[in-house]
Amino acid sequence: MIKTDILIIGAGPTGLFTVFEAGLLKLKCHLIDALPQAGGQCSELYPKKPIYDIPGFPDVLAGDLTKNLLEQGRQFEPGFTLGERAETIDKQEDGSFIVTTNKGTQHQAPIVAIAGGLGSFEPRKPLIENITKYEDHGVDYFIKDPEKYRNKRVVISGGGDSALDWSIFLADIASEVTLIHRRNEFRGALDSVEKVQELKLLGKINLVTPSEVVGVSGEDHIESVTVKKADEEFQIETDFFIPLFGLSPKLGPIGNWGLDIEKNAIKVDNALDYQTNIPGIYAIGDVNTYPGKLKLILCGFHEATLMCQSAYKRINPGKKYVLKYTTVSGIDGFDGTRKEAPKAVVKAII
Ligand SMILES: Cc1cc2nc3c(=O)[nH]c(=O)nc-3n(C[C@H](O)[C@H](O)[C@H](O)COP(=O)(O)OP(=O)(O)OC[C@H]3O[C@@H](n4cnc5c(N)ncnc54)[C@H](O)[C@@H]3O)c2cc1C
Repeated sequence: MIKTDILIIGAGPTGLFTVFEAGLLKLKCHLIDALPQAGGQCSELYPKKPIYDIPGFPDVLAGDLTKNLLEQGRQFEPGFTLGERAETIDKQEDGSFIVTTNKGTQHQAPIVAIAGGLGSFEPRKPLIENITKYEDHGVDYFIKDPEKYRNKRVVISGGGDSALDWSIFLADIASEVTLIHRRNEFRGALDSVEKVQELKLLGKINLVTPSEVVGVSGEDHIESVTVKKADEEFQIETDFFIPLFGLSPKLGPIGNWGLDIEKNAIKVDNALDYQTNIPGIYAIGDVNTYPGKLKLILCGFHEATLMCQSAYKRINPGKKYVLKYTTVSGIDGFDGTRKEAPKAVVKAII
């Protein structure tokens, strides 16, 4: 059982900034995300796009914003359960909550902050009848650790950035990479398309287009895929089949947690602290709704900050908290580090 002060569901920008704000209040956080990496939409959908409306940054790549948020929160030593979807929540007699993931990992906390954005991103799966039989037995929808494919034969399917980028990356790791796409044209970045073309000419990627994987087979583990090209069908022997068809967001299991939901978003008390109808459960960032809601990163940061203040009061009833500027109080990390402005530059005003 993983125990923490604030259990954050969703490691997007809102969830990541919560770690920092909670840390200032000496509250520890653990994050659960269905994706294998932190960053939410920023890292999954547009890591290389510049964002222009983060205060203080004239422009910042979404991927860099994620890196910076992780760095900013690192001193508060957050825990992560990645690649697992928060599935159920159970309220305990002491008022705390136990959240269990689809893989059975249990987490307990007095406060749950849902920062689930558009919901958990679920992989779009190919319409192949028996594919579920091979999930985790050779069929992967995410690449968590590229080393898993070292010296193995890999078939990747898809026409977007993920399929192109991973084909390029794995060309140096796997013993054989086959990229299958139903069209001759790819939707990914031009330089990635050109790189794949170059690796094809070097014999490092087998490019099969316009084609589709229509079947998978093997005993306990995948052994081959069936490919359809025009009217012809043929087999390719492989150790792994990785369909990368993108992700579709779904509010998913959180929708069954007894929370007030309006148009696929969780209703919160925005006049106070972004608490939901269940005391102790907050919803912040894109996942919530209230009059005037804007689905912007900076709004998620603001909501996270106010939510942490409320969570502090809930965890420490009766204890007074005086807001301090970080420039004045410095930051004491949970890892023993201390950040402090040089005294000559900043003087406390008492
Ligand atoms: C192409 C594009 C461009 C954008 N440009 C801008 C911009 O310029 N400026 C701006 O302010 N905003 C922009 N946005 C919007 C911005 O990305 C979102 O407002 C922001 O990502 C919301 O952050 P979040 O942390 O609330 O949610 P998200 O980033 O959506 O993260 C939520 C996370 O929760 C996880 N999750 C959900 N449910 C579960 C569950 N049950 N179990 C486990 N994990 C779960 C998801 O996997 C996801 O990783 C853009 C969005 C897109 C798609």
